[in-house]
Amino acid sequence: MKNDNVDVVVLGGGIAGLYYAHCLSSHHEKLDILILSKDELAVCNTRYAQGGVAVTFDPVFSEIESHVQDTLNAGRGLCDERVVRFVVEEGKEQIQNLMNLGTSFDRNIDGELDMVKEGGHSSNRIVHAKDRTGLEIQNSLMRALKTTNNVRFRSSCLALDLLMDEDACLGVQVLNKDGDNTIISASTTVIATGGIGQLYEVTTNPSVATGDGIAMASRAGAKIQDMAFVQFHPTALYEVGRTPSFLISEAVRGHGAQLRNEDGEAFMFQYDPRGSLATRDIVSKAIFLEMQRSAFPYVWLDVRHFDLVEFAELFPTISEKCQSLGLNLSKEMIPVVPAAHYLCGGIVTDNKGRTSIPNLLCLGEAGRTGMHGANRLASNSLLEALVFAARAARLPYERKPISSVQQESDHRNEGVISATFDIAEIKSIMSNNAGIERTLDGLQFAQMKLSKLKQPQMPSDRNEVEFINMIEVARLVVEDALHNLD
Ligand SMILES: Cc1cc2nc3c(=O)[nH]c(=O)nc-3n(C[C@H](O)[C@H](O)[C@H](O)COP(=O)(O)OP(=O)(O)OC[C@H]3O[C@@H](n4cnc5c(N)ncnc54)[C@H](O)[C@@H]3O)c2cc1C
Repeated sequence: MKNDNVDVVVLGGGIAGLYYAHCLSSHHEKLDILILSKDELAVCNTRYAQGGVAVTFDPVFSEIESHVQDTLNAGRGLCDERVVRFVVEEGKEQIQNLMNLGTSFDRNIDGELDMVKEGGHSSNRIVHAKDRTGLEIQNSLMRALKTTNNVRFRSSCLALDLLMDEDACLGVQVLNKDGDNTIISASTTVIATGGIGQLYEVTTNPSVATGDGIAMASRAGAKIQDMAFVQFHPTALYEVGRTPSFLISEAVRGHGAQLRNEDGEAFMFQYDPRGSLATRDIVSKAIFLEMQRSAFPYVWLDVRHFDLVEFAELFPTISEKCQSLGLNLSKEMIPVVPAAHYLCGGIVTDNKGRTSIPNLLCLGEAGRTGMHGANRLASNSLLEALVFAARAARLPYERKPISSVQQESDHRNEGVISATFDIAEIKSIMSNNAGIERTLDGLQFAQMKLSKLKQPQMPSDRNEVEFINMIEVARLVVEDALHNLD
């Protein structure tokens, strides 16, 4: 087992981990900061973010207030209003900071930022880079970090478990690309490992979204909350067998696309006066009910009335994808289904990203800050990640004496193929019993099935580690869903 000492180890190279490292290194040029990602850096939810970042630039009270109210309304009364308020107020500074770093958001012909609208928002307040906003942000952060001397990256490096001393975190044990284990001791450990979409059969989240950080924190005794609040995005492209599902951004509905059922009816108005622009929970549930009623495997998203040249200009990725499938959007509609998309709950943090475990921070989608309540408002998650990363980076840094940490188990990769631990089984249990529609019987059945899954005793590769983590996280989702059942 190798040993490594750093000042700060960041688990995750999405927006939360990268922006935190950027802000921290600009406050503390001498800190040794190490960012780990379990796959290539490009594989993360951030890269796929299409729609944009919700931000209120106008300091006018009514504008701030309207963004706050839209967020609270979406969260079904379960947001922490204090948190919502400071995130909305501080967003502008972080977006300005990103632009200073070279992030290029779209502008209108007058050179002003092109602000668009998405479901649940009462005004145009989403900044975006066409439909590739996450990629643009990630690329600009990577460019900025490459110019610093004190931030290092290690990809294909899987964090296994937190190293704990009594009740404080001392670092992390990892499985390297070469199959060796390393103990990384650090004064500060930051979980920025993203979401849990891979728990479900249909998800927009890439393969890394197996909830590893949440599982590690749970095993270490951190406070976890609101795991039942898994958000389903209403409009993932229906493509049999493709994972992750390709997302048709909410901004397309913001631009006027209509949801229709198999009879061509714009059914959303039967469910909500805002029609296709109701919040995600309402639209996803309505689609689910329409699919159940009709026994049709998807509903349609209608963009036939759009100017398709403008559509391709605004949504190049979506337009190219539809073309690649041979869809003629002037005549044909897009088949869409709801997909597991975002986790509103997670590891509980205070208003600077500190968890209940000393020396352990959590940022981004893995964290539960109180911002989203039961349902996240569209484009509020990149915003939350930025604001909390900037706040956490301003915490006074304390260098802790590094004790030599020993972990008993050595998770060595012996090249074993773990065919017996079938992740598809977890996905099936969760999709059928803890998805959009939940019942007491279904959740209890899921709980029983999860408890019976045989787990590897000495996980030796990524698949086995993820299998264990996914069971842990699935269990947390189901338990919380049972508590929250109406
Ligand atoms: C298709 C799609 C579209 C979206 N569109 C928007 C949008 O328009 N606006 C918006 O606000 N939000 C959007 N979201 C949500 C948003 O993208 C995510 O919430 C956000 O990017 C999460 O960032 P993160 O840094 O927390 O995690 P991620 O970007 O997912 O990064 C997680 C990182 O953790 C690493 N990791 C995980 N486990 C381990 C481990 N065990 N060891 C080491 N490393 C590990 C991964 O390798 C990765 O580097 C979208 C999400 C998706 C999937």
